[in-house]
Amino acid sequence: MVRADRVHKNFGALRVLNGISLEVHRGEVLCLIGPSGSGKSTFLRCINHLEQVSAGRLYVAGELVGYREKAGRLYELHPRDAARQRREIGMVFQHFNLFPHRTALGNVIEAPMQVKKVRKATATARAKELLDRVGLADKANAYPAQLSGGQQQRVAIARALAMDPKLMLFDEPTSALDPELVGEVLTVMRELADSGMTMVVVTHEMGFAREVGDQLVFMDQGVVVEAGAPADLLAAPRHDRTKEFLSRLL
Ligand code: ATP
Ligand code: MG
Repeated sequence: MVRADRVHKNFGALRVLNGISLEVHRGEVLCLIGPSGSGKSTFLRCINHLEQVSAGRLYVAGELVGYREKAGRLYELHPRDAARQRREIGMVFQHFNLFPHRTALGNVIEAPMQVKKVRKATATARAKELLDRVGLADKANAYPAQLSGGQQQRVAIARALAMDPKLMLFDEPTSALDPELVGEVLTVMRELADSGMTMVVVTHEMGFAREVGDQLVFMDQGVVVEAGAPADLLAAPRHDRTKEFLSRLL
């Protein structure tokens, strides 16, 4: 579902990604960890083409992200096609970025109606299903300010799912939450993984990585230092940098 082949990303002279290669198969959950500034968010942003890779190739569902290849050369995609690629990928951020003047339901129906031109009645019925799925059936008419952080984040997940993504990207979805609210969001993510969704999750929740992740990838300074089955990597990290990072985390 995702294949990164020696992906590089520079911001001017700053080399943020230095040849990331990895693969996420359909239905798999890949958890990504690493120190602040190691390039985790940048990598997620490259996957849905919010950033353009500087070198290397990135494929989602077999399609090159942001480019079209012809006779060995790359051509930038038409913005319309880039937008189509992007809307097949759901993204959930640390800060939920809900529209403050719309209810939970209003937030969930927005993109299907505006972008996919789904009729309001259809979008509303589906949004109610999704809110129910994230445990918020009774909060459909609440505004973000009336919801806890955990509830807002669950609305953000429902909103991303409303576009029927092939892939979900999560960038530290629980790190802005009070500790007692983390569990409810992780539970929703776990159910989503169990339903077969392909997910890339930047998180420092090692319990989640161990129980839900199929792969755990440790990144530092824009390279994959170590990757493997979460239980193995957590029990016996091979590299000093991984050991040091995990010892600070656990
Ligand atoms: P954190 O754990 O703090 O979220 P991260 O691993 O997600 O860190 P990134 O946000 O990917 O790290 O940032 C990696 C590096 O790229 C940082 O040095 C950051 O300052 C730099 N960077 C990110 N976005 C830009 C940008 N748009 N322009 C210039 N530099 C950027
Ligand atoms: Mg980040």
